[in-house]
Amino acid sequence: MKLPPFEYACPSTLGEAVALLASDNGEAKAIAGGQSLVPMLAFRMAQPSLLVDLRKLPGLREIKIGADGVRLGALVRWRDILDDKRLDAAHPLLKAAIAHVAHYQIRNRGTVGGSLAHADPASEMPCIAVTCDAVIAVTGTAGARSIKAADFLLGALTTALTPDEIVTEVHLPAWPAQRRFGFQEFARRRGDFALAGIALHYDPDAGGKAGNAHIGMFGVGDRARRLAPAEAALNGKAVDEATIVKVGEAAAAAVDPQEDIHASAPYRRALTGTLTERALQAAAK
Ligand SMILES: Cc1cc2nc3c(=O)[nH]c(=O)nc-3n(C[C@H](O)[C@H](O)[C@H](O)COP(=O)(O)OP(=O)(O)OC[C@H]3O[C@@H](n4cnc5c(N)ncnc54)[C@H](O)[C@@H]3O)c2cc1C
Repeated sequence: MKLPPFEYACPSTLGEAVALLASDNGEAKAIAGGQSLVPMLAFRMAQPSLLVDLRKLPGLREIKIGADGVRLGALVRWRDILDDKRLDAAHPLLKAAIAHVAHYQIRNRGTVGGSLAHADPASEMPCIAVTCDAVIAVTGTAGARSIKAADFLLGALTTALTPDEIVTEVHLPAWPAQRRFGFQEFARRRGDFALAGIALHYDPDAGGKAGNAHIGMFGVGDRARRLAPAEAALNGKAVDEATIVKVGEAAAAAVDPQEDIHASAPYRRALTGTLTERALQAAAK
């Protein structure tokens, strides 16, 4: 389908971009990789009067790794993450998750900021942000602010962003060397959005018992979120087969799955439990 008509601007400063987004009574929209927005335009699910292209904004393409963790600029693409060897140690869970995003061409254009702002419930990046307690930096006409990932995602395709705000960076806290992690998702075809997915990590103590468990799910419900009952079932336990089964059961009981043309609610619930078990088995190896 042809796109609806719109004006186009390609500012070279953040201030200019924010002013443009604020200029059209909330009818303007940012565009980054275009991999979600352009299909939405084609299907008339979005009809902005003005598209504000972010690609010339300086300083948003960097992946910074420091003692306090990993900072991903909003215009960092999936390909940049997969190509960055430093992330193998600095954030292996991020890397494992992003390997599942879409197809080659889409990974060459799709961005971190675009994925967070789009807030698809079945997207990997929002789940990693929530699971890892990431903080999202945004800038608008009122200035800059930082939003915890769990407060940023409000529902399917809905975030805490105001129409004039731009995501500039996401900060993932530092990754301890001894941390264990697992990532599992199930999609009908490689590269499709997942029917369900689980990201988890924990820090084993000297005796091998799990602590500081973080278990996040996506694709089941209206947004990615952590599963507190499953985390409680893991904390303080030796990660053996009995614990793994109990954590899987707790995860399955903690979700509120939706039914759609792809899968029934009971199937998604069962899948959540199975993926949790598999992710935990991988983490424990
Ligand atoms: C066939 C197909 C399969 C896909 N499969 C997957 C998948 O498996 N997993 C997955 O996670 N994604 C998948 N995607 C989506 C893809 O990863 C997108 O690239 C991503 O979700 C959006 O990033 P973008 O840079 O393309 O954003 P755009 O399409 O440019 O924008 C998306 C939305 O975010 C807003 N926006 C963009 N950048 C910013 C910013 N910095 N600040 C504020 N608002 C902003 C736009 O206004 C728009 O509302 C798929 C897409 C396609 C077409």
